[in-house]
Amino acid sequence: MNEDQTSLGDIFRRLIRNTGPISFTQYMGESNARYYAARDPLGTQGDFVTAPEISQMFGELIGLWLADMWIKAGRSEDVAYVELGPGRGTLAKDALRSAKKYGLEPEVHFVEASPALRELQMRSVPEARWHHDLSTVPHDIPLLLVANEFLDALPVRQLVRTAEGWRERMVGLDERDRFIPVSGGQAMDAAVPVAWRDANQGTILETCPGAAAIIYEITGRLEAQGGAALIIDYGHAELREGSTLQAVRAHQKVNPFSEPGTADLTALVDFETLARIAQSREIKWLGTMPQGDWLRALGIEMRTEALARRAPQYMQDLQAQRDRLIADDQMGQLFKVMGLAASDWPDGVGFAREG
Ligand code: SAH
Repeated sequence: MNEDQTSLGDIFRRLIRNTGPISFTQYMGESNARYYAARDPLGTQGDFVTAPEISQMFGELIGLWLADMWIKAGRSEDVAYVELGPGRGTLAKDALRSAKKYGLEPEVHFVEASPALRELQMRSVPEARWHHDLSTVPHDIPLLLVANEFLDALPVRQLVRTAEGWRERMVGLDERDRFIPVSGGQAMDAAVPVAWRDANQGTILETCPGAAAIIYEITGRLEAQGGAALIIDYGHAELREGSTLQAVRAHQKVNPFSEPGTADLTALVDFETLARIAQSREIKWLGTMPQGDWLRALGIEMRTEALARRAPQYMQDLQAQRDRLIADDQMGQLFKVMGLAASDWPDGVGFAREG
């Protein structure tokens, strides 16, 4: 599909030759926009696999969590399920099916940029309505919001400590026209937290302005409209230094600087900064839990056994899927679940606040 288009690499090269290095944000943002627009990257045939594509239990337990919150908050008649970057629509389909068993049948709103993925989502959840961003999602009813592996795809900005002080880390070209990180000319010390100003040369700090803006917007919505949110992604609960940018193609890590637009570029989500933003608002930050602990608290082990009793021939597959989602050396520790709720909504199962 992309063959007759000028490659994004060539567009960037011309731009850099004409006007100098470009920011990481521009490089990553335009690469991913091109990457997602034309393809379904998910699954064994694609480039990477996500939790909802591993097992139906993932979406079902999320649906259960949302239904439990909604019931304890008083079963408002009008309520919206909102998902950011729903991929193939698998999580939504599984979550809505399990929520329905508890009487929760919300309006469905998807925020999705990719035309190719919107097509697939339409097949999984035909009743959904689509949005380019949160601004057009209803403003007058409680929201049950889910984002799985959405924030990791948003462009990051990197700052690097050089001999001259802090500079933005940018993308330039080497003598053989390959993309390489270079430091920008402008002083960026004012953008660095005081505690980091005198860090060792070479220290890199990565921030994701888009993720911060979205959490700010979500928390504002929860405060004004009521509701709850689950933000699930791979990342750290505490801020760390270093670049976490990575590229994945056909289930292999590849160099993020080769062939932009043809591999999925992601960065670890900095849950510490997102928690700080949430805590500064008039809502409840429920906590940030390792995915394995959270799914166990929701009963994934019992759910696996129940499914295996119904289909004993799939017992081993079901157990393997469960382990991929919760084992410490698989997704269980690296992936985190951050919970948010309106102040007058309950604390939610699986978070430390639960008493
Ligand atoms: N949540 C899905 C898919 C994760 S892949 C799953 O778990 O399987 C990332 C998703 O976010 C894709 O649907 C992609 O098209 C969407 N996306 C990435 N950047 C986006 C942006 N800036 N705006 C809207 N959607 C975006």
